[in-house]
Amino acid sequence: MAPTRDSLGCFITAHLARVKCIVSKGNPRITFFYLLFFIRRNFIMDHKLYLRRCIEIADEAVASGNNPFGALLVDSKGDIIVESGNIEITEKDCTGHAETTVMRKATKLYSKEFLWDCTLYTTAEPCCMCTGAIYWGNVGRVVFGITEKQLLELTGSHEKNPTFDVPCREVLAKGQKNIEVIGPINDVDLQEEIVKIHRTFWK
Ligand SMILES: [Zn+2]
Repeated sequence: MAPTRDSLGCFITAHLARVKCIVSKGNPRITFFYLLFFIRRNFIMDHKLYLRRCIEIADEAVASGNNPFGALLVDSKGDIIVESGNIEITEKDCTGHAETTVMRKATKLYSKEFLWDCTLYTTAEPCCMCTGAIYWGNVGRVVFGITEKQLLELTGSHEKNPTFDVPCREVLAKGQKNIEVIGPINDVDLQEEIVKIHRTFWK
């Protein structure tokens, strides 16, 4: 699969500090394997492909009577290992956001060490609660389609989703982990696909 511009940008910027740290330790074997992992993680994964699947999941959530959000978790090999749409209405669960539901499932199945090398994809930027779940679950990277501010403009003060206005980067900056955040996705058409679902839903 061809590398995307997002993944190229990620390659240049994202783990530079970690690479420098490992290279500076001077262990060529560790450096080699880390770079292999790094290249696979950033060049093989196609963010847009996974976000398109998140959009399908969001559509399925709406069809099942829930809110239009979808999320999934991808391991370091690029395999989707957990998926969920929003379930808060049918499950009568105020914590049933797509990302938190993915994290709840993931932490029952996988160790924190394993999850650190995983990426959570989601249609819209994670709210404070979901960012907290990602942090506590120890997922090392988040990719989202549209920002919470964009979502807020679409939901307004709708009683089903009176959206926060707090970027997940700000929440994570107060924590103690170097969780990487990529988003909003650098693709106008893909963003529009996500916006379209919300534009019709929150009328
Ligand atoms: Zn949330």
